[in-house]
Amino acid sequence: MEGEGVADARKNTITPKAVINSKFGIKASYVVEEVVEPSQDGCPGLSIPGLSVPGFSIPQKGPSSYRCRLELPDFSVVSGTFRKKKDAEQDAAQKAVDKLGIHPSKGKPTLEEASEELVSRISYLFSDEFIQIQHPMSGHLRATLRREGDHCGLFPISVIAACDGKASSLCKQIDPKVESNPSLALSFIKLAASKLSGSLSSPDEKLWIKRLNPYPQDILESPIDQESCHPEVTTVHALYIPSLMEEPVEPINFDVLPSGYYMDIIAEKLRISNASDLLISRPIGRASSETRLYYAAPEMYWSEASSSLEIAESCKDSINVRATYLSGQDIYGNAILAAVGYTWKSKDLSVEDISILSYYRMLINKTPAGAYKLSRGAVITATLPLAFTTKTNWRGLLPRDILNTFCRQHRLAEPTFNTSIVQIKSSSELSGPPKELRTMKPANETEEADATFSTSTIDESAESGSAYLCEVKTSFELSGLSKMLRTMKPENETGQADASFSTSNIEESAESGSNYQCEVKILSKMQEVILVCSPKESFKRQNDCIQTAALKVLLWLNMYFLDMKAEKAISSTNTLDITFNPKHLHEEFKLCSSIHGYQQRNIQEVNNKICQVNIEGPDSGISPTPGSLVSITYSVSLVPDDGHAKELLESADVFEFEMGTGAVISYLEVAVAQMSVGQSACFSIGIPDQELILAASDDFARINSLLNSNPCCLEYFVKLMHITEPLEDGMEQAFFSPPLSKQRVEYAVGRIRQSDATSLVDFGCGSGSLLESLLDYATGLEMIVGVDISVKSLIRAAKVLHSKLSKDSSTIKSAVLYDGSIIELDSRLCGFDMGTCLEVIEHMQEEQAHLFGDIVLGSFRPKTLIVSTPNYEYNVILRGSSAPNQEGDADEKSQAGGQSFKFRNHDHKFEWTRQQFESWASKLATKHNYMVEFSGVGGSHDIEPGFASQIAVFRMEPPPHSTPGDSPVSSAEGVIHRCNVVWEWNPSS
Ligand code: SAH
Ligand code: MG
Repeated sequence: MEGEGVADARKNTITPKAVINSKFGIKASYVVEEVVEPSQDGCPGLSIPGLSVPGFSIPQKGPSSYRCRLELPDFSVVSGTFRKKKDAEQDAAQKAVDKLGIHPSKGKPTLEEASEELVSRISYLFSDEFIQIQHPMSGHLRATLRREGDHCGLFPISVIAACDGKASSLCKQIDPKVESNPSLALSFIKLAASKLSGSLSSPDEKLWIKRLNPYPQDILESPIDQESCHPEVTTVHALYIPSLMEEPVEPINFDVLPSGYYMDIIAEKLRISNASDLLISRPIGRASSETRLYYAAPEMYWSEASSSLEIAESCKDSINVRATYLSGQDIYGNAILAAVGYTWKSKDLSVEDISILSYYRMLINKTPAGAYKLSRGAVITATLPLAFTTKTNWRGLLPRDILNTFCRQHRLAEPTFNTSIVQIKSSSELSGPPKELRTMKPANETEEADATFSTSTIDESAESGSAYLCEVKTSFELSGLSKMLRTMKPENETGQADASFSTSNIEESAESGSNYQCEVKILSKMQEVILVCSPKESFKRQNDCIQTAALKVLLWLNMYFLDMKAEKAISSTNTLDITFNPKHLHEEFKLCSSIHGYQQRNIQEVNNKICQVNIEGPDSGISPTPGSLVSITYSVSLVPDDGHAKELLESADVFEFEMGTGAVISYLEVAVAQMSVGQSACFSIGIPDQELILAASDDFARINSLLNSNPCCLEYFVKLMHITEPLEDGMEQAFFSPPLSKQRVEYAVGRIRQSDATSLVDFGCGSGSLLESLLDYATGLEMIVGVDISVKSLIRAAKVLHSKLSKDSSTIKSAVLYDGSIIELDSRLCGFDMGTCLEVIEHMQEEQAHLFGDIVLGSFRPKTLIVSTPNYEYNVILRGSSAPNQEGDADEKSQAGGQSFKFRNHDHKFEWTRQQFESWASKLATKHNYMVEFSGVGGSHDIEPGFASQIAVFRMEPPPHSTPGDSPVSSAEGVIHRCNVVWEWNPSS
């Protein structure tokens, strides 16, 4: 078995943990954390609806994996993720061992072994055999042999260091510093070559190796060297990146003849007489790409005892900031960025074009906001949102993925996310929960809300960076934004402006009574902590918690990037819950400001006039509110003042974003906030950072000349195509604490506890929020049943109930979940003590709601029935807009179909006023011999417009024993089974 083999191998050597233990003893501490799986929400074992497997077991979580953090006195390391904690610990220990440069096991070569291996690798590269193989190195070899005159056969060492994977990894084993300073590899390779002086020559101070004996003629004439299939000239489109920041990056093209060596041509372009003095960077961008920087070896390179430090010292002036930033390694003097090289696949030179556009995209991809913009394909228009609301409303790369990309881009280890569960004390007293539950929200809610939005202005400036920024806070913007923000909360509920943190969904949620908190850490290359973000707020869902923390880090980094003095970043450190180490931060990102800030300083003064937003088209009355997902069509063009033709920069037929989160530039968000579906608008604004414009348009020459010869502005055209209303949950939670859904459940639980019910059926139980909550309280219930038509919801309900029932000792003797419609008869639903139906009837057509009433009270006949549904009149408050016209629009509503904006949830088929609801309930009660009383949650009975959720409680009248046998299906007779059992719990089996 494979596993045994591994174990055996371990036995023979010392495990990394043992090495660490012998060296550090108790000073080494391992912290294992569980890693979130990119959610897979299946319920293993629960597959076929209708198949009842009593008592089967559902794993409470998906397969977990672990990551281990090993803290040592001087540094710490983080392992990869593993299924077993043990493996994570060993991996962390191995990483530490590697870092310490200890080579305990036989598998790892010692320093001498690595050096020896490097010698044999070099020897092999220059062997008769190797030149005949299809290999990037052999492509170079053959090309150097084609060189004319003195240079013939001189092989640049830099090619081996940069392009031969084997040799460079051996160099890294000899000295791990090669990782951060790849040019160190040159000296190791040279040293190896000097050990082969019998066959190779590499004079001091020369950066080439030459084979002493010529290759046998027959090998050189072998078919592989016939450059037959590509006889033409290859044109390379590359970029010239001057080391002087004042000089612009420019396209540079050159031709490589079939008989030529491309290194010679690049050298010539850089005015280097010998291509051997050309150094090559590691690949930039995609790992598979041959995009690299070419630059001259610093003159000092071979001077006495040239340590990398001395080189750095002597070349300080000529450091090429842009190239260094792009590659993450020190690059001196002018450089050429090109994607050219020999590959494994073909003996011909392979080439990709590098344009100015791709250069700027690479640049902005290194900033958090830029990576987000690129992921949205809207470099100019999209901006990194200020809040993570829900996964469904987020567009583009998720915050956590952006942060991972960011760290990779800067050659840092992946950030660590440490989630913990915080217990919220759960009260068994019903009067308790409202207060207790309040603590589930951030303690300082007001501050939280402020925090989110106070960053909006900061972010905006960080985002666009250019001269027009000073004027960003025109009344145009401020009035719009603040108007929008105001509509997010009712006048007197300042504490709850934050609509964004939705917590009610059961999916991937913590047990009730506990929430998730998350801490993000970013480590420097030396494994020192650069930055820690520990948001105070906790979340019901682990994913929300992680994404929010990641986003805070991104927002902060973004500010830091564009303002290295970091005043803004520092000032928002508190609100974004960030602590950072200025020194380490500076070390890792010192070049960022010179790169991204440069454009700002150099930008021409632009015309900052901001025109009025001209909205065209009839007002359809369907307008976005914060939290709604809008779909727009837009285009943005660069318009020169002098009336020259405008240049399209960016456009999209369908572009979606969530209102109120700052997912697009504020001008656009403000404009859209004023529009209704079907309307279009046009407005102009000053131009943003040139970097963004150049990353948007591929016509560099034209854009550049426009920008340089004229004041320009950006002209936006936008049409609002569609609005998806915010989900009921999110909205209700913005207004109610505890959330309205929670209040409904608490209300029902209260009624149940007051009753002596032993059996309960929840009609339209959904994900089981009520059934689950019931288990938290002492009730007399012995049998609980849930019915719903959504199998997906039922599966979630099953998971939650199963894990809860397995843990708790409760009075429940049986629990069943049925997949079925509650407007169909099923004799198994008859005769319960208690029936509940929370927020379900409005999901059916009105006739069906009437039918349900007849079936439930006429046939199922629970002793008590609790029904809740939204109070339509309350929507006015939720909307924060003018009162919807209730009269005469009932028909209009149904015609509008899913488009209706008046309901709380797009799935609602109707919503009733108090009068409509009371009329339905009263008639129903009379018809079936029930009494009914009315109540509600959210708001108040005696303050207009009543409760947010209205509730009817029906009680059987007269008492059950004297019920006339009017029920068509009594539990004794006529067995009708229309529902399928989805899950069943039966502790005795
Ligand atoms: N009662 C739950 C769910 C409310 S959402 C709660 O308060 O959280 C409305 C639920 O009604 C959805 O789960 C939907 O699937 C269900 N539903 C709608 N029509 C139904 C029908 N005809 N029969 C059974 N369930 C229905
Ligand atoms: Mg509903």
